[in-house]
Amino acid sequence: MDNATEAIGHICVDPPLNETEIEYVAAVAAGLRSTPGQPSPLGCWVPCVDGCCLIADDTDGLDEITDWLRHLIGYFLKPGARASAGSPLLGFTFDHRLDGTVAYYDAEAKDLFAIKVTNNRVTRRTLQADPAAYPVDLPPAAVSSSSRTSAPLPDNVIDLATRRRQR
Ligand SMILES: [Zn+2]
Repeated sequence: MDNATEAIGHICVDPPLNETEIEYVAAVAAGLRSTPGQPSPLGCWVPCVDGCCLIADDTDGLDEITDWLRHLIGYFLKPGARASAGSPLLGFTFDHRLDGTVAYYDAEAKDLFAIKVTNNRVTRRTLQADPAAYPVDLPPAAVSSSSRTSAPLPDNVIDLATRRRQR
């Protein structure tokens, strides 16, 4: 796939992922581990080396990126995540809070999106749809200062600048 999307930004993880969790998330992203109910074979999100943020793969589709983020949070990141029940995953803390916004440009659709996470809740919205498909009016041209001064004022408007100069 040749860069269907381009991403700006990352999602913060607080407290940061520990070593075990960093390795696990990276292994899921590489397809070396799988988790029950995952949206697709490869996880889209990789942690930074410090575990304090998650960065999405640019090349995955937006549905996949959004679904994967919800999956990671619900399965083993948030307090009370599914993997904390029964025989919990060893070395996992299940106490992470994710916050942040990642903006995506979909080169194919020419649409701009944002994936926003607030206290582990993931939402996605369109910031701007393809301007060619939905024409957007250009902003009105700025009036240049020369054309403003040369335009004659209506009779009932007092030209303060001229009056001041005359004093
Ligand atoms: Zn980080």
